[in-house]
Amino acid sequence: MDCYVCRSEEQFDTLPPRERVAADEHWRVVHAFDSRLPGWLVLVPRRHVTSIAELTDTRRRASAPGRSGSPGR
Ligand SMILES: [Zn+2]
Repeated sequence: MDCYVCRSEEQFDTLPPRERVAADEHWRVVHAFDSRLPGWLVLVPRRHVTSIAELTDTRRRASAPGRSGSPGR
């Protein structure tokens, strides 16, 4: 399987800042590429998933708006 997100995750420590704006054990915040909106950020899971149904409750809560803390903690 060739998955861009998983390949990026394997190189986490050497990723450029745009690929790890913030991160915790579940998510990375990255600048979107191929977007017309400068500064557009996306939340990327740190393991392979193909649908939101594959996320655990912990991961869903960690990505929910209004959660305490930030992805960088
Ligand atoms: Zn993957």
